[in-house]
Amino acid sequence: MDKTLWLRWRYPILVFFLGAIAIVYSTQSISHFLFKNEVEKRLENIHIFYQERYLNLGRELLELIDKLQFNCTQQDITLLRDTIEQSTGIQLLELHTAKSDCSVYGKNVPLIKDFDKDNSFISHDNGDFSYNVAPYHNHRLKVHYQLPNASLILITEPVQNVFTQSEVCLNCTAMTLSRDGSEIEIYPRSQTKQYTHVASKRFGPNYAFNVYATDNGINYVTESDLFITQLLLFFMLLSVCLMIGLYRTPERTLKEMISYGLMKKEFIPYYQPIVDSTTGAITCCEVLIRWQRSDGELISPNQFIPIAEHNGQIKLLTNYIIEHVIDQFEGELIADSQFYISINVTPQQLEDDEFLSTTINLLKQRNVPAHRLAFEVTERIPFSDLAKARRIIQHLTDFGISIKLDDAGTGYGGFSYLQNLPIDTLKIDKMFVDTIGTNDIKSNILDSIILFAKHAGLKVIAEGVETKAQVDYLHQREIYLMQGYHYAKPMPFNEFKQYLQQDLMISKR
Ligand code: C2E
Ligand code: CA
Ligand code: CA
Repeated sequence: MDKTLWLRWRYPILVFFLGAIAIVYSTQSISHFLFKNEVEKRLENIHIFYQERYLNLGRELLELIDKLQFNCTQQDITLLRDTIEQSTGIQLLELHTAKSDCSVYGKNVPLIKDFDKDNSFISHDNGDFSYNVAPYHNHRLKVHYQLPNASLILITEPVQNVFTQSEVCLNCTAMTLSRDGSEIEIYPRSQTKQYTHVASKRFGPNYAFNVYATDNGINYVTESDLFITQLLLFFMLLSVCLMIGLYRTPERTLKEMISYGLMKKEFIPYYQPIVDSTTGAITCCEVLIRWQRSDGELISPNQFIPIAEHNGQIKLLTNYIIEHVIDQFEGELIADSQFYISINVTPQQLEDDEFLSTTINLLKQRNVPAHRLAFEVTERIPFSDLAKARRIIQHLTDFGISIKLDDAGTGYGGFSYLQNLPIDTLKIDKMFVDTIGTNDIKSNILDSIILFAKHAGLKVIAEGVETKAQVDYLHQREIYLMQGYHYAKPMPFNEFKQYLQQDLMISKR
């Protein structure tokens, strides 16, 4: 697979797989979440429905207690009947006194006798009277008021469940009422099943409805919603990953990689000698950057320099390379010789005051004579502020750093640059050297460039010289400085040092 494609998509793919695993693994949590949401919504409705009814119970009871004679006369029975008729929450009322019992059905027909047997209830004592709330058949509540000389029992309407029977499996949900740590079952939990608490809703200031459910119950209710939710999550995940991938254009990915490479010091200078073909002496060398990745791969500058030029990282790269070159030649550049090192820079760097001062400071700091360094600026990219470039180049040349025009004839305004800027050398691009001995129309351009350079009094270096025929042709036109595989390929420092020593010991130059 194309490497940049892989680099671009590896994170989105990783995010997608991790996200997909997370979605699958969180099935139970999503079900829970969906179920809880649904229960809370329904509890809210139940709350709205019962809030008023049950809160009225206390008031209705107090009014009744006020009017009762507590002797189960017809008057008392009528009062009991009137109360349940007017109440929306009470279904049954019964009065027990020391002498007689009565209910809404008449005297001595008490229906509920077994309240003492309840062992699950919520009790309340406010000083004046106390009461118990216990579950009663058919999801109703039984409230037993203990008055000083009588007791009053009321049965509420059935409490509505959060889910109807058809919506959920048998015994899969349960509902309770609680107060101060006591809890009574309205829709009871089965002894044989495991329930989880799902939600609670406060009811009045003291009570709360609680809903419990088994895992089966939760899955049963949320099955179809779960499928849609997970599908939606997958689509969202996919969209996010696509967006990440599309955002991570090769350029952005490469930018991150270059920053990482700089941090890890993965960029190294290679050196290619520039030879005086009449003597074979090495007059200078060009620094050509290489990117040595941690896996050993050597990346050619054509693959990252254009991006770095475009996004400004070239500044960091150049500074890094200059320092690295100085480190490698430490001590050897002070010896008395004319040998110098040529470093590639962009037009933008030659319009940048910061670049100027950084370079000058660095050379001073490291005690490197300025004439040991030259810059070659490519014609491929145009200068944007020629006046500023002129000022900065003048500054550099005054300091001792010479400037060459690289790739001459291939790009923008080469001749106008040569007229306007203090450039002393012209590098003829390989593209023109390649035409030597061919019928290529560009071979005329080569001759024109050479002619122009001579008239302008410029030094000339021919680049990409690969054959003896090319050397001879250039000789005939009095071009002697040559760079190319015919002499040597770009090489790492140690190799280049040996190459230099074979040619002439650096110290003796
Ligand atoms: P360039 O400045 O024109 O460098 C010359 C290129 O031609 C180098 O390619 C060199 O290896 C290659 N070359 C030299 N002689 C021969 C030859 O006889 N035959 C062939 N086939 N090729 C030859 P390289 O090293 O791949 O660099 C490519 C370009 O990357 C450079 O072109 C330069 O524009 C840029 N570059 C390299 N290092 C730097 C740097 O540190 N800063 C900047 N701004 N650009 C750099
Ligand atoms: Ca160059
Ligand atoms: Ca060139």
